[in-house]
Amino acid sequence: MFNVVWLKKDLRLHDHAALAKAVESQLPTLVLFILEDDWLHQDDFANRHWRFAYECLIDIGKRLNSKTKILHVLQGDPSIIFSELLRHHGCFNLLSHQETGNAFTYSRDKKIKTFCKSNAIAWSELPQFAVLRGLKSRVKWNDEWNRFMSEPQHEVKLNEFVPFHLDSQIKVRFKLSKHPNKELNIQAGGEKEALNLWENFLVFRYKNYSRHISKPRESRESCSRLSPHLTWGSISIRKLIQDLKKNRTTSRSLQNFKSRLHWHCHFIQKLESEPRIEFENQNSAYNEIRNTINEEWLEKWKTGHTGIPMVDACMRCVVHTGYLNFRMRAMLISFWTQHLWQPWQPAAIHLARQFTDYEPGIHYSQIQMQSGTVGYHTIRVYNPIKQALDHDPDATFIKQWLPELQHLPTDLAISPWKINEMEQLLYSFNLGVDYPKPIINPDVSGKIASQQLHLFKNQEQTKREAKRIMTIHLVPKNKKGQPND
Ligand SMILES: Cc1cc2nc3c(=O)[nH]c(=O)nc-3n(C[C@H](O)[C@H](O)[C@H](O)COP(=O)(O)OP(=O)(O)OC[C@H]3O[C@@H](n4cnc5c(N)ncnc54)[C@H](O)[C@@H]3O)c2cc1C
Repeated sequence: MFNVVWLKKDLRLHDHAALAKAVESQLPTLVLFILEDDWLHQDDFANRHWRFAYECLIDIGKRLNSKTKILHVLQGDPSIIFSELLRHHGCFNLLSHQETGNAFTYSRDKKIKTFCKSNAIAWSELPQFAVLRGLKSRVKWNDEWNRFMSEPQHEVKLNEFVPFHLDSQIKVRFKLSKHPNKELNIQAGGEKEALNLWENFLVFRYKNYSRHISKPRESRESCSRLSPHLTWGSISIRKLIQDLKKNRTTSRSLQNFKSRLHWHCHFIQKLESEPRIEFENQNSAYNEIRNTINEEWLEKWKTGHTGIPMVDACMRCVVHTGYLNFRMRAMLISFWTQHLWQPWQPAAIHLARQFTDYEPGIHYSQIQMQSGTVGYHTIRVYNPIKQALDHDPDATFIKQWLPELQHLPTDLAISPWKINEMEQLLYSFNLGVDYPKPIINPDVSGKIASQQLHLFKNQEQTKREAKRIMTIHLVPKNKKGQPND
């Protein structure tokens, strides 16, 4: 008998329940990551996701393999690889974290569960977030979150590892062949990188967290930037919460940051409890609206050529760097689904491929909320011109990502359609040639969208559905009387 620790999105060596349990058992242990061929062909897959995971694996490999060659990275179908392990080496215990992923990972896990059942393999799926399987209501969810976060971290005693020697035929047959391409502007992966980022945030960068959180340029420095690390598990959320507790600061910025960590699990819980929100409107009353896609607009939105500078700058920035702050992500979705009145699904896939931190649970829940398809949140239609005036008033961010607007004065860089003939000559700028004319007038489209959404929100069917959704997902008010959603 031996252990297989199946690494998925838990690519670290600290606070690692599966690794700690495997070591404690004193059985030989194989630590395995499988690059799944099918994953590479999913609509929401992007090279940057694999690149980030790959860098995390290199980091783990350096530490595990220096003593014993226990980390293996193979490529193929997990159910075939596990069958081959069984055939060559006999029965094993399978240990992993419990994953709340998308439809692809869900159906793969169901297949593995069947395989384990029919071969008497015990599969321990251990939680790494405060996300509960089979939850019917959120009444006790806050208590569970607190309980999970205060549990002791799972220490992995690396010097007690009993290595397992993998059959060379398996190594050769499932050898990793798809290495990710380099992407220079994307955040680097790895536990070491995550811990450095965290330390640096906790000592210096947090100071401007609340002040800069909505600003597309400044937030890149003042927010924690831990999101891809939380997605790929190169840092433990429990460690973050416990470090904050030790820190004992009353700083408003760190309190706000902590509430985001609470939201992290809260949003993932939504997808765990209702996986269909990856594809369908959470509130079915909205199935009546926004059913056709304007392909020309989609292309312009995806490439940052809508003619609305704040929208285009944000899009080009996220395509290039894999990161955008919360407010601007919300604005991009609001622009697509509300101003342009388009279905959220193609936008969700496009952004999933851009975000290095793509986390299905947060992603789809946020997309539904920002498109207004839940039915009980306040309707927020972001005006991209107001967002620019509030959060990029000197147009520095806009000009960084839209160099064609560089020589325009600030007000014209924010609203280039206001340029007159004389100014076009003066600045050698030709509207419609150097930069597109706007595809809509956001002042008008925003008002229309808001009216439509309010109309829908007040319909009986919407309210009935909203009530159903609240029963499943709404977290009761906390001690300060604040709702948690
Ligand atoms: C349309 C849309 C899609 C999004 N998709 C993703 C996604 O795929 N993956 C992802 O991690 N975040 C997503 N977010 C949430 C948020 O924008 C990012 O978590 C945040 O910008 C990451 O930056 P940070 O790590 O510096 O965050 P910080 O502000 O430093 O927050 C720390 C951590 O808290 C969590 N967090 C922060 N804000 C939120 C939030 N609003 N909801 C839930 N959790 C939050 C994240 O894990 C984040 O890393 C999305 C938001 C929107 C509006």
